[in-house]
Amino acid sequence: MTRVYNFSAGPSMMPEDVMKLAQSEFLDYRGLGSSVIEISHRSKDYVALAAEAERDLRDLLKVPDNYRVLFMQGGGRGQFAAVPMNLLTGTGKADYITTGNWSKDAHTEALKYGDAREIKADFKGEDGLIRVRGDLQFRDDADYVYYCANETVCGVELFDIPDAGDRPLVADVSSEFLSKPMDVSRFGLIYAGAQKNVAPAGLTIVIVRDDLVGRAMKCCPSIFDYKILADKDSMFNTPPTFCWYMAGLVFKWLKELGGLEEMEKLNIAKSDFLYGFLGSCDFYSLAVAPEFRSRMNVPFFLKDESLNEKFLAEAKVAGLTSLKGHRILGGMRASIYNAMPMDGVKALVKFMEDFAAKAG
Ligand SMILES: *Cc1c(COP(=O)(O)O)cnc(C)c1O
Repeated sequence: MTRVYNFSAGPSMMPEDVMKLAQSEFLDYRGLGSSVIEISHRSKDYVALAAEAERDLRDLLKVPDNYRVLFMQGGGRGQFAAVPMNLLTGTGKADYITTGNWSKDAHTEALKYGDAREIKADFKGEDGLIRVRGDLQFRDDADYVYYCANETVCGVELFDIPDAGDRPLVADVSSEFLSKPMDVSRFGLIYAGAQKNVAPAGLTIVIVRDDLVGRAMKCCPSIFDYKILADKDSMFNTPPTFCWYMAGLVFKWLKELGGLEEMEKLNIAKSDFLYGFLGSCDFYSLAVAPEFRSRMNVPFFLKDESLNEKFLAEAKVAGLTSLKGHRILGGMRASIYNAMPMDGVKALVKFMEDFAAKAG
């Protein structure tokens, strides 16, 4: 068996130790004689597993007691609708900071439900590099302010949390969730689709402050109503049991690694190494200003784009896959989530060095 370094933006690499453990207990979950995917979500064993996963997540992120953790379905895009259906119910106004494709799409979805105003914050500086404005004004009576903490497509990460004053701040953290510590108390709500950094596709984790639960529109489907999910411990309907189990294994893996502080150190080391090389080699170029460069998703370009196909083909032979950039942006993108080891990043840099030397 040969495993490659897979730079996919999502679904993406999972920690190998986690997959081996899941494989070893797949047919017989801890002596039950059944697989974890074959047992009822209401069985004693499953309920215990689910509760332990939530506890571990709360420990990792230091989630305050006045926040609920929900294990939902419908992906990130489900939350593009669920957030306004649950929260756009006071004045019906919300301010959306947009910094790339995902926040723009979230804003477009929110327009269905109320007065969602776009505050476009990304711009190109004189050097042609993408930046994000900080001097943003929000409406006093906005029900919430929304932003995307890491734009997966263009590789723009906001390291400073926007100041929304007293308004609840909502963040899509799908592609940076658990890559570093986070002060949850600064937010009204955060959510993350699991398939980037946590588990197989099918699970969405929502962390929401108590006072924002129980405000949903009448039209909100019950499976998207935070109050119903919270009251039923996310078991109003059948949850994605396998994903929840896998997420629990990943939380344990993170704890054993030393928690999110340690994870962040590794992520800084990996991204510094990759950006350091890209910045020093004329053969490649970057599109984002240094202070906004994502530690998770690294888009880059070959200055001679006619070599793109050759680059991808040779990378694949070298065991480096899914480097093709998003269709909107073109070029290349290396996603280096938690599960990508430093060795994978080193192998990529070595390949890029050799490729540039040969072609240039
Ligand atoms: C992937 C992604 C989404 C969409 O997630 P789906 O689960 O495919 O709906 C939303 N926001 C961000 C930041 C993402 O990276």
